Amino acid sequence: MIKSEHHFQPLPILCNSESYTACPIDLSKQSGHLGYWVHLFRSHLPKLLAEAERRFSGELNLERRLDTARRYFTQYLDSISRQSDQHGRLEIIDICWARERALRAAQFDDVYRDAKCRENDAAMKLWPSLIDELDAMSDAERMSSIIKGIFAGNIFDLGATTTVDLFTDNNVDFLSTRQRLSPRPWLIDDLDSFLPQLTRGRYRNSLLFVDNAGCDIILGMIPFARELLRRGATVLLAANTEPALNDITHRELVVIVQELSCDDAILRNALDDGRLEMVPSGNNAPLIDLSRVSYQLAQAITRRDIDLVVLEGMGRAIESNFHARLTCDTVKVAMIKDEGVADWLGGSVYDLVFRFEPANNH
Ligand code: MG
Repeated sequence: MIKSEHHFQPLPILCNSESYTACPIDLSKQSGHLGYWVHLFRSHLPKLLAEAERRFSGELNLERRLDTARRYFTQYLDSISRQSDQHGRLEIIDICWARERALRAAQFDDVYRDAKCRENDAAMKLWPSLIDELDAMSDAERMSSIIKGIFAGNIFDLGATTTVDLFTDNNVDFLSTRQRLSPRPWLIDDLDSFLPQLTRGRYRNSLLFVDNAGCDIILGMIPFARELLRRGATVLLAANTEPALNDITHRELVVIVQELSCDDAILRNALDDGRLEMVPSGNNAPLIDLSRVSYQLAQAITRRDIDLVVLEGMGRAIESNFHARLTCDTVKVAMIKDEGVADWLGGSVYDLVFRFEPANNH
């Protein structure tokens, strides 16, 4: 039988896949956390529907469809609030999936497409000067700048209530964010343990779970991938199969990397010789459940002996997978853009997390 992208399986390099849970918190047993997250999803919903109204403006039955999505998701939030202990384990990712179902029930697909295109265009314009700047630096300077770029790019997050308004008002950009990042040591700061591994050329095959479109992917994660390629590693870029908020999708990523590679010898050569590959993760949420990734991703991992995984973004690295253990070295990197997540980690909004977990410490 030919397996398609609809077949899911656990990430082959996941430790203890039988006991793995995507999210560290079981909301059904933590009423304080449940109340916080239900409130957060409720207060984000009008922003999401306003974006849907802009994006699908002029389409048939728009008001009715907006109402369907609103009712569907609100009823779900009401039901988990009332009977949280009757649903079994309940995680933040379950609420994300319910939100996607509500949007699909109203035939809203890829609500943030226009926002992603706008931010992709802006980031593409900055790419040449960013790459010139990075290429002129010493190795140490360049690595530090690339890591800061990952943090700064990650501010493009239309799911977090603290950052969504910044983008609505056009009040934020990559370069100024990079300049104003929290100084080191960050809230979790394992950079000094990770960098020597990277500079010694320890990594031959890497897998990067990327997060958002715009500056996040183009000015943050692709320059990091390019650095791994420059150092001779292979890079597998895993992006969402289906749209979710402003996450980059696999299809969009393929187009962006092709476009960037036209004027970039490192990317072009790596695409040509198969060292750079894009693969759909199977995911359809801003968080990720590593017990159900796409067949293509599992196959791609099996073909390569992956020795470094990077989970990028608050959703993939903290709200889900903060406690996930993989069989290889793992980096969890994110900017915190939510009060609840900040409290949970004992930090503040805009704090930075760079967590390095060497394989032999598991
Ligand atoms: Mg995201």
